[in-house]
Amino acid sequence: MSALNPVLEVDLAALCANYRAMAAAVPRATPAAVVKCDAYGLGAAAVATALKEKENCRSFFVAYPEEGAELRSAIGGDADIYVFNGPFDETLAAHRAFALTPVLNSLEQAALWAREMPGKSAAVHFDTGMHRLGLSLADLDRVRAVSGLNIAVVMSHLACASDPKNPMNARQKEDFVAVAKLFPNARKSLSSSGAALIGPAFGFDLVRLGVGLYGVNPHDSGPSPARPVARLTAPVIQVHAMNAGETVGYGATFSAARRSVLATVALGYGDGFPRSGSNRASALLGGILCPVAGRVSMDLIVLDATAAGRTPKIGDVAEFFGPGLSIDGAAATCGTIGYELLTTIGGLARPRAAGNRAGLGGRLRRRYLWNGAPADASLVGAEGT
Ligand SMILES: *Cc1c(COP(=O)(O)O)cnc(C)c1O
Repeated sequence: MSALNPVLEVDLAALCANYRAMAAAVPRATPAAVVKCDAYGLGAAAVATALKEKENCRSFFVAYPEEGAELRSAIGGDADIYVFNGPFDETLAAHRAFALTPVLNSLEQAALWAREMPGKSAAVHFDTGMHRLGLSLADLDRVRAVSGLNIAVVMSHLACASDPKNPMNARQKEDFVAVAKLFPNARKSLSSSGAALIGPAFGFDLVRLGVGLYGVNPHDSGPSPARPVARLTAPVIQVHAMNAGETVGYGATFSAARRSVLATVALGYGDGFPRSGSNRASALLGGILCPVAGRVSMDLIVLDATAAGRTPKIGDVAEFFGPGLSIDGAAATCGTIGYELLTTIGGLARPRAAGNRAGLGGRLRRRYLWNGAPADASLVGAEGT
C-alpha cells in the first residue's frame, strides 16, 4: 500500500495537556470528556483510553447509546458513560447491557427510566434557554414528584459559551443555580469547554469538556488556549509549471498572474475537506503558506507553490491544519468552524488497523502520536495504531 495518502495525525499528549489545562481553570470541578461523534472525529476509543490511562478520567459523555456501547467495550467498567439524547423504549436494552447513564430530557423520559430502571442513577437536563434538549423549568415540580428516580447529576447547557461576554451566560447560570438548589444531593454540571474557560464560577461539580480537548479554540475570538491535537496532511503527487494567464481546475476559476509552480496534493472533498475552501484555504508546504488554486475536487487539491521558492517534490507533505496552521483559521477560510471541519474529516478517517478499505474512508489514514512518536498501543485501545 502506498504511503501517498492523506493522513490525520492525533497527538494524544496534546489532548491530555488540554484536559489538564481546562481542568485547572475550574479546580473544584471534576472534568468529564465529551466523546460524541467518535470524539469529534478523532476516535472515541483512543481518546477515552488515553484520558483514562494518563489522566484518570472517569466520566464520559456521548450522544447515542450505540456510541456508549462501543465506548464501554473500549474502556471497561470503571467509568461513567452518560448518553445526552436520553433513553427511549428502543434503547433501554443498550442502557441495561452496557451500564449507560441516561440524560433525561423530558417528563416522558423521566417516567420511562423510573419505571424500567427504578433506583438506577440518571442525569436530568433542564433547559435554561437553549430550547434544544432538556426539561422545561415549568416541569420542575412534576419531575421531582416522579418516584423511583435517582438523580445523580443535574445539568444544563449554555447557548453562548463561545462568547464569554454574552449576557445570556450569566442569565442561564442564575436559572441553573436556582434549579440545582432543589436537588441538594445531585452533582451539578453546566459547562462545556467554552463555559469552563469563562471562569471558575462556571465550574460547579462536573464540567463537560469537548472541543477544547481536541485543540479547537472554544471561544470565537482571542488566542486559542488549546494546544493543537489534530494535524491534516496530504502528499504532493504531481508538480506543474504554468504560464501567466493559464488556469487551474474545474471551471477554470484560478488564473495565474505570473509564471507559477503548482503542487497537486492527494486530498479532496471526498476526504471531507470542504469544497468551500476553493481559492480560499491554504496549506503549509516546506514551511511556506501556499494558497489553494482553483476548486477543491473530489480527490485532489492544487496548491500555488510559487512562493515556496523551491520546486516541491513528489511525496512532500502539505499541512492543511495542525501545529503550523491553526484549525480555527483553516475552518474560517472554508466558511465553517473547527467542530465541523474535525467531525467531517475525522468521520472519514480510519485507523491503519482497519485495513486498506477501497471505499469511502479507506484513503484518509488516522495515526496516533504521543509527542510526535507513534503512540503506545496501550493508549490507543481498540483503534489500533
Ligand atoms: C457537545 C456538548 C458538550 C461539549 O461542548 P464543547 O463546546 O465541545 O466543549 C457539552 N454539553 C453538551 C450538552 C453537549 O451537547
